[in-house]
Amino acid sequence: MTTDHDTETMPADADCLFCKIVAGDVPADVVASNDRVIAFRDINPQAPMHVLVVPREHYGDIAQLAAGAPDLLADVVALADEVASEQADGQFRLIFNSGPHAGQSVFHVHGHVLGGAHLGWSPA
Ligand code: IMP
Repeated sequence: MTTDHDTETMPADADCLFCKIVAGDVPADVVASNDRVIAFRDINPQAPMHVLVVPREHYGDIAQLAAGAPDLLADVVALADEVASEQADGQFRLIFNSGPHAGQSVFHVHGHVLGGAHLGWSPA
C-alpha cells in the first residue's frame, strides 16, 4: 500500500509506552506487523482475541491520526482485519477509545481488536 505521509513522520515520544513497544524497548506479544503498523496482544484481555493495532508513528488518538494520515488509519484497519482473519474467522469489533472519559489510558492511538466469541454490547 502506498503512503503519502512519509515526509511528515511523527517523532517517537520518549515517554510513550507504545512507542517503546514499537522500538522493541518494552516486550510485547506481537502477532502481526508490517513497516507501518504493529499488532500485539493486550496484557489485560477482554475477549478470547484481544489484540491492539498500533501505527508505528506516534499520533495521540484516532482523530489526530485520521486528520494527519488517513492512509495510515486505513493501514491500521487492514492489519486488524488480517489478525481477525487469522484468529477469529474474520469477525471482529474494532474500538478506539478517545480521551480519558472514553477509557483511553495510553495516548498513542491504538485500535482494540476484539473477537473469538459472541460479544455483548455494554460500553458502560
Ligand atoms: P486504552 O485504555 O484504550 O488506552 O487501552 C490501553 C490498553 O493497553 C489496555 O487495554 C491495557 O490493558 C493495554 N496495555 C497496557 N500496557 C500494555 C503492555 O505493556 N502490553 C500490552 N498491552 C498493554
